[in-house]
Order: sequence, then C-alpha cells, then structure tokens
Amino acid sequence: MKNKITILGAYGAKSDKGGSSAFLLNNESVIDAGNLLVPLSQKSVDIENVWLTHSHLDHISDMAFILDNYHDKRTKTLKIYGLNSTLEALKKHFFNHVIWPDFSAIPLVNGKGMCISYHPIECGKVYGLDASSTIEAIDTDHTVPSCGYGIEKDDSSVVITADTHSLTSVIEYVNRKQNVYALVVECSFPVNMADMAKISKHFTPAYLFDALKPLEGQEIQIYINHIKPEYKTQICQEIEVLKGSWDVTILEDGDIIRF
Ligand SMILES: [Zn+2]
Ligand SMILES: [Zn+2]
Repeated sequence: MKNKITILGAYGAKSDKGGSSAFLLNNESVIDAGNLLVPLSQKSVDIENVWLTHSHLDHISDMAFILDNYHDKRTKTLKIYGLNSTLEALKKHFFNHVIWPDFSAIPLVNGKGMCISYHPIECGKVYGLDASSTIEAIDTDHTVPSCGYGIEKDDSSVVITADTHSLTSVIEYVNRKQNVYALVVECSFPVNMADMAKISKHFTPAYLFDALKPLEGQEIQIYINHIKPEYKTQICQEIEVLKGSWDVTILEDGDIIRF
C-alpha cells in the first residue's frame, strides 16, 4: 500500500466543518479545486495539473485564489483538464475578466507561458498522471456535463465519482478493471430530501446503496464525500442504518486513502 490520495476537501460545500471537493494525487496533481489554499498554502505553487470533474463552484473555486495569492511565485502554467463543456464554462463564466481575470491571457511573471492553459479530455480515454500511474475519466450523471475519475497505479485503482445521481459507468469501470480497491462516492442529502437530491442530481444514502447493489459482494472500500455539512449528523446516521455489509468510511479533510 504505497499509493495514496489525500483528501484536501471532503464536503459538498465550504463551511466551518471543512472544505469542498479537492483530492491531492501527488505533489503536482489534484482532482478538483474546491479546497487548495488552506490545506496547501504555498505548496499550491507546485500544483501543475487540475483534473476537474465539472464546473460547479464547490469544485473550482480555489484555482482563483492560488493563482491570485501566489502569482509571482508560480514558475509553471497551471494546466486545467476537463470535459470540453467544463472548460468552456470556465472560460465563459469564471476566468472571463468579469468574475476573475482571464489567467489564460496573463503571462507568468517567473516562467514561460501563461498562468493557465486548458486541456480537453474524453471519458474512456487513459491519460498519464506520472511515470507509474494513469487517470481515466468516467461518465457521470449530474446537472451539468460531469465525470468521475479512475486512478490506477501498480495494478490497483481508486474511483472518485464526484457529483452524480447514477453509478452506471462507474460500475462498468469496476467490472472492467477488476482491481478497484476503493470507491469515493458522493452522498449529499438525507433521505427526506430525496426530491432535492433527484432535481440536483445527487445521492441520498438510500439512492446510493441502491445504486451500489450491482457491486454487492465485491471487496471494495466505500468512502463517502460531498456531504452537505448542515445535514451531516442525519446523513451519517442513515448511512449506518442502510450500509448493509459495505465497509464504509465518512471522509474528513486531511484523510488519506492508501491503495
Ligand atoms: Zn459539488
Ligand atoms: Zn455539482
């Protein structure tokens, strides 16, 4: 178990309980950017690759602040990977010189190139993460185009679903790979907010364990993230009742998944 993923932000919103979605894969790469500034501070200067799951604010917000705070310390372009529509949303609605500067048009002060660059990816394609690990985008079902990611290293993989109301493609990935050690799955709302979960395309504990049924009997660790902090106590109680034989861990900021 020498591979690890560090949870920088475990929640589905920023609050006094913790940060929103971000996962540190290695010193240079993260999945999502909801919480980079506080946990990484100046180490965020080393982040070169952000793999986005989708365009929602709780997954992108801290790109704005690490670029701003460490503008003169960065020596390399921040490469932003995501589905084409995710990148288009960032260009149009976020880094657009209205909400925040268009850093793709601002040169690095202490390096070559621009502060950020955009790199479209496709679901089902495998991309190199570093010398010994790969990352593959997996189609998910959310209110905007979205994907999860499978991270594979030394013939072991972990899947991070991010925001979704379906695990269909995730289950296909798990059955194809046969080496998935853990699933990091979202669970945003309590059971009595099923209508809200449906409309916003998230899971409640009941929806989640129903969606996991095709994988029952497989030895996969289940890690829960993206809980809306206000409902945490209720969601955790419901997970305890509904989890059946699944080995479930509720993630907190700073937790490490070793695989
Ligand atoms: Zn979210
Ligand atoms: Zn979302």
